[in-house]
Amino acid sequence: MEQVRAKKSLGQHFLTDESIAERIARSLTGRTRCLLEIGPGMGVLTKHLVGEPQYRFRAIELDRESVEYLHLHYPELDVIEGDFLRLDLNNIFGDEPFAIIGNFPYNISSQILFRVFEQRNHIPEVVGMFQKEVAERVAAGPGSKTYGILSVLLSAFYDIEYLFTVHENVFNPPPKVKSAVIRLTRNDVQQLGCDERLFVQVVKTGFNQRRKTLRNALKPLNMQLDAIPEEILAKRAEQLSVQDFIFITNNITPEKCQ
Ligand code: SAH
Repeated sequence: MEQVRAKKSLGQHFLTDESIAERIARSLTGRTRCLLEIGPGMGVLTKHLVGEPQYRFRAIELDRESVEYLHLHYPELDVIEGDFLRLDLNNIFGDEPFAIIGNFPYNISSQILFRVFEQRNHIPEVVGMFQKEVAERVAAGPGSKTYGILSVLLSAFYDIEYLFTVHENVFNPPPKVKSAVIRLTRNDVQQLGCDERLFVQVVKTGFNQRRKTLRNALKPLNMQLDAIPEEILAKRAEQLSVQDFIFITNNITPEKCQ
């Protein structure tokens, strides 16, 4: 592509298919006024958003060359040069909630999603492209092999839709894997009804040894499991719903010191 050469270390795979960029932009529900794009690169997606009057639009891009390119081609764009993972999300649009959009840098997909989980009360919506495997993992439900930590944590607070798959040959350079676009929409849940920090720990520990039954997988927590029915303890983490994890969190107690 012109001027900017893709840098692998930054997860740069520039989308070359305009119609897909447009489709991603149109996948926003439009309910949120403020909009943050992560990693605009050379602006293929940006151009469908930057002039739209319904949005207050900002972007964050780590790569200096891309930022220069964007300044030149989209002078009206409010682009922050920096790392999304270090961005203070409480200040970016003042107090206003904001949606996140992007063809994301795949090397930091999980970190982006964990930040969304932590900041969920600021982020009503996320639309974006991940590598297909990550998108499937996030969108998976209980009983599926790809169901994991991020599926449970995110689905506790978001409705998650797998929108469409994208072939590797519409990128420059083409990634090794297919991609997919998903949409996360914040649900009404404010409180999980359990100690949330412990919930996260239970989910993470349960999936850490995902082939083991929960009775064994949860041992590292050093908690008493006596109040949990055997039918749950005999299952593996991938078979449990968000509600099951909440139930476990509410019914484990610290081991007594000997
Ligand atoms: N959206 C563009 C580029 C996608 S590639 C397109 O679809 O063509 C991912 C982009 O994210 C690259 O431009 C890369 O420089 C940028 N990026 C990588 N790590 C980043 C980070 N931590 N914070 C912000 N942007 C990042």
